[in-house]
Amino acid sequence: VIDDQIHRTTQIPRDTLLDYKEKTENNRLPIVVTYNAKLNIIRKIERPATHAPYRYPTKQIFPELPLLSYRQPPNLRKMIVRSALPNTTKAGTFSSNRCETCKYVLCKDQVAIPNTQKIFTILDYYLCASSNVVYMIICTRCSTGGIYIGETGQKLRARMNHHRHKINTKSCDTPVGQHFCSQNHSLQDMQVLIVKGNFKTEWERKIYEFKCMELFNTL
Ligand SMILES: [Zn+2]
Ligand SMILES: [Zn+2]
Repeated sequence: VIDDQIHRTTQIPRDTLLDYKEKTENNRLPIVVTYNAKLNIIRKIERPATHAPYRYPTKQIFPELPLLSYRQPPNLRKMIVRSALPNTTKAGTFSSNRCETCKYVLCKDQVAIPNTQKIFTILDYYLCASSNVVYMIICTRCSTGGIYIGETGQKLRARMNHHRHKINTKSCDTPVGQHFCSQNHSLQDMQVLIVKGNFKTEWERKIYEFKCMELFNTL
């Protein structure tokens, strides 16, 4: 049966299908009412009235059967659920609880790229507990050159514990430790935000980290 129908459609030339088809004019009177179970009575009223042309003059006024359509009445779902996301959904890194990392989280969805007129925009919503991310540590003391890009498969806050430990123990074996242990610097100058998350593979994440390093000139 399906093959037959497919065969039939292949027989119709393309030109015929492209021709504009005029719609047949419809004079049926639309009656739109909000649905209610008790309204079935309307169907019973409309039929005899329209099917008995000589008994009722309505047939002359409305020669065709009225087009009865129901409007969906308000329901709990319509009243409670909004189909659009609320505008308060924002992008950036947000504090979820009062962990140590939350104190340093920079909640912004745009970062200026130093020495350019460009702005980098963060598209998604992240928390200090987000994992599989590329993040950015910014030094508030240095106007330029105080940016460090990193990536981690762990939660951001676990990775930040590591960075904080380096700074607190004055370990200069990492770029972050070195920067925040330098003159006039302290942990208080540090801010962190997630640039991007949800990578499919570790490789994809590392590539993205590298691209950010190029973009922010931190290589
Ligand atoms: Zn936190
Ligand atoms: Zn600095």
